[in-house]
Amino acid sequence: MATVHSYGATQEVTGSCHLLQIGDVKILIDCGMFQGEEEEMNEKPFGFDAKEIDYLLVTHAHLDHVGRIPRLVKEGFGGKIYATAATMELAEIILLDSAKIMSEDFQTKYRKALRKGRETKLSKPLYEPLDVDKTFKMIEWINPEYDVYYELCEGVSFIYRNAGHILGSAFIELSYMEDEDSHTIVFSGDIGNNNQLVLPDLQKCSKTEALYVETTYGDREHQPISLTIEEFKDVIVKTLDSHGNVLIPSFAVERTQELLCLLREMYKSGELPKCKVFLDSPMATRATAVYRNYAQELTKQCQENVKEDGTVFNFNSLVYTETPEASKGINDIKSKAIIIAGSGMCNGGRITHHFKHRIWDKKNAVVFVGFQAEGTLGREIVEGAQWINVFGEDIIVKASIHTINGFSAHADQDGIIKWISNMKELKKVFLVHGEKETQKIFKKVLKEKLQLDAHIVAYGEKIIL
Ligand SMILES: [Zn+2]
Ligand SMILES: [Zn+2]
Repeated sequence: MATVHSYGATQEVTGSCHLLQIGDVKILIDCGMFQGEEEEMNEKPFGFDAKEIDYLLVTHAHLDHVGRIPRLVKEGFGGKIYATAATMELAEIILLDSAKIMSEDFQTKYRKALRKGRETKLSKPLYEPLDVDKTFKMIEWINPEYDVYYELCEGVSFIYRNAGHILGSAFIELSYMEDEDSHTIVFSGDIGNNNQLVLPDLQKCSKTEALYVETTYGDREHQPISLTIEEFKDVIVKTLDSHGNVLIPSFAVERTQELLCLLREMYKSGELPKCKVFLDSPMATRATAVYRNYAQELTKQCQENVKEDGTVFNFNSLVYTETPEASKGINDIKSKAIIIAGSGMCNGGRITHHFKHRIWDKKNAVVFVGFQAEGTLGREIVEGAQWINVFGEDIIVKASIHTINGFSAHADQDGIIKWISNMKELKKVFLVHGEKETQKIFKKVLKEKLQLDAHIVAYGEKIIL
């Protein structure tokens, strides 16, 4: 009997974790962290015994897909991990960063609790940098290539296909034998938008019987990327032409590389006014190096860049500021700087320093290019806060604030439907990785457009395939 038990990303977008059991073989698909409102779920037991998992197949390196792997290892997982080589490298960067943030948060809370005599009540971080190290050193990682058939164990095989979501991302086509019959199931992971700057399009999947599909944007269409690019260029040019500076809070993986690609294109075509572009994020700099190392997996245009300049992203105006001193040095520049810094939602990181130095000046612009979750400083600013509090100081917001939609790493409703429409023999569709209301809308559209019934998976639900 084959079953799938879901332990995350059910009627929500974080915590991806699905346990596929075929006979006695236990295969985990992703082991992600719950984020935002669901954060406390990370503390709860997995719902299965980590020691009994034979294999972990990772779709991509986002924290909501890999964030609980060190905990899995801590709890005794001793199987093999499969992830593309790029995913493995990005996952190490992302996990180390998350372990560092959790350790620092814990230290701050600990000092406060100590003063109240409540330090014993404090729960330890989920894992520490040392646990991340162990995850990569003690566990065997295998790096499947795209479109290559692998035998996982007797009667179970899989192929990784390019999901076009972030570098290294994959959806997994898995085949297994049951009572002498062969069956197929696809786990989408997160699937990308087509016509992107950095990544090639999502690959087609020609047939499967069962599908676990993400539905993050299953209820909406993105605006065309060409429009997004025009809006972005417009703010940049106008702000620089009037001697202002542009601050861009950005996620280290994918969005930053897209921005670098776009700015490089503007530079090459002469559209970019004379300026300095600072990538002020050590994590984004490390992630960019991984993208550079896997240039063969990027778009044709990116590969052309390499032929032309020997590198994917660099151009003369671009400066990588690694050290805190170099970062502080940016403060001396009075005008015509573009500063890309983390964190993407402004709840920490170097961007908050740049806000302190520049958000009170009306000649500057803040450009949001990614989702800002409830409760973050980014959301406050996007919603029109007139004052913000950074480092205990109230600062007036006079810079112009721009939200540019359309830079999405996820397929929209039409994108998901088109992808599913290619799958022959599809009988069972399971919706995961989406808000409940979004999933209800997507379920209806799927029925109308492709005459397919879908099931919205609940937390802890066991599906018999
Ligand atoms: Zn993702
Ligand atoms: Zn995700």
